Amino acid sequence: MRLILLGAPGAGKGTQAARIASRYGIAHISTGDMLRAEIRSETPLGLMAKSIIDRGELVSDDVIIGMVKNRIVMPDCARGFLFDGFPRTIEQAEALEDICNIDYAIDIEVPFDRLIERISSRRMCPKCGSAYHVSAHPEGLCPCGGKLYQRDDDNEETVKNRLEVYGEKTAPLIEFYRTRGRLLTVNGDASVDTVEAEIARKLEG
Ligand code: AMP
Repeated sequence: MRLILLGAPGAGKGTQAARIASRYGIAHISTGDMLRAEIRSETPLGLMAKSIIDRGELVSDDVIIGMVKNRIVMPDCARGFLFDGFPRTIEQAEALEDICNIDYAIDIEVPFDRLIERISSRRMCPKCGSAYHVSAHPEGLCPCGGKLYQRDDDNEETVKNRLEVYGEKTAPLIEFYRTRGRLLTVNGDASVDTVEAEIARKLEG
């Protein structure tokens, strides 16, 4: 099974990706998580990517495609994988077509005016990677014990730019996969369990 999760920043891609990947025993590949790991390790790629990410812009297609090519040959991808945050441009989608076949691209739809509130209120766990609305754990502690933090690029100004970049560069991918007969659409403005169930139903239906 080879899947793509599409959707604007704040649509819930990361949360659903973790659930869907574990449900089907496939690898969860988040290019954003891979870049943040490079930043934490202070690699040359991480140092280059940090200012781009902090501005809400996109890292170059060549860098991302190279990262993905190296990732999908790893053993945990043998049963399949799910991309979260990739592809983000038509160029990346076209490059992916040359690398492997994708079964479905799942677009998680959330009304535009809900996205800014969702991202600005998002808190992340550094230990398990979960994302929560700030009101879920106001004391700032994840159930796994991690201390919740706000992503540097989840501030309101960067979020506005990320949403603009999404509309301009990434939203056209919906048509890209629709015309290839590989698009599934789910309503993301619902509980995490409901969205997961709808994704599973569409994949298995
Ligand atoms: P995410 O965690 O998916 O929201 O990604 C965080 C940031 O990483 C994005 O705003 C981009 O700056 C960068 N990024 C992640 N994935 C990609 C990609 N496929 N292409 C370009 N930039 C990316």
